[in-house]
Amino acid sequence: MSDSKINVTIWNEFIHEKEEASVKELYPKGIHGYLAEALASPDLDIRTATLDEPEHGLTQEVLDNTDVLLWWGHAAHDKVDDAIVRRVQQRVWDGMGLLVMHSAHMSKIFCALNGTSGKLHWREVGERERLWTVDPAHPIAAGVPEHFELPYEEMYGEPFMIAGDARLIFISWFEGGEVFRSGFTLQRGFGRIFYFRPGHEAFPTYYNENVQKVLANAVRWLKPVVDIPYPKTHMPESLEIISEKSFSFSKVGIIKPE
Ligand code: ZN
Repeated sequence: MSDSKINVTIWNEFIHEKEEASVKELYPKGIHGYLAEALASPDLDIRTATLDEPEHGLTQEVLDNTDVLLWWGHAAHDKVDDAIVRRVQQRVWDGMGLLVMHSAHMSKIFCALNGTSGKLHWREVGERERLWTVDPAHPIAAGVPEHFELPYEEMYGEPFMIAGDARLIFISWFEGGEVFRSGFTLQRGFGRIFYFRPGHEAFPTYYNENVQKVLANAVRWLKPVVDIPYPKTHMPESLEIISEKSFSFSKVGIIKPE
């Protein structure tokens, strides 16, 4: 964990941008490359990693030097190695922040940490989305208006299978009538997690200034509060003298004498 700058790793499966011309046009350097430039700031040290790199670019060394990991995935959740998922999960338990973006609601790492299926309804016709800031006091909502609109987005609808301890910051309304819990936080182990819904690859969502503000705020909020091995278990010496107990399970009838 850096004392000065926040070490950020932006992970992207990087498939749609290579396979679909319209997505490549929007994000010629990939979503990870675009976000690395959009979020660039003197207080951040940003690197990127993609699925095709050895160990998906998430070696132990990279993760040990990552304070906040952003995750974008959609078409290749099942191609992510389970050993890497466990490695990321351990780092979150140890304190690393995780920003889960859009379709990564079905990523192995989010499902593992969220603890439920992460399923939802969806429709891809490029409809209008209105996001409402329902917790304006949260640092992730700083400077974000009470509501803002994205003219074209994929619809995600409720019920969204997320953990009961999710703390809501944003909800969305869609042109077709659905609503969705679009931005919420979780804590797993010592690590903070933020899920943010907007970000379908076929629309210029990440160019939106409010979306960028939310992501920028989230990166700062997700910075580890502590960064220590977790769970750190041991068998401690008792602090007090524990008195001798004379009971016998056979005497109280739990175990019947032979
Ligand atoms: Zn999508």
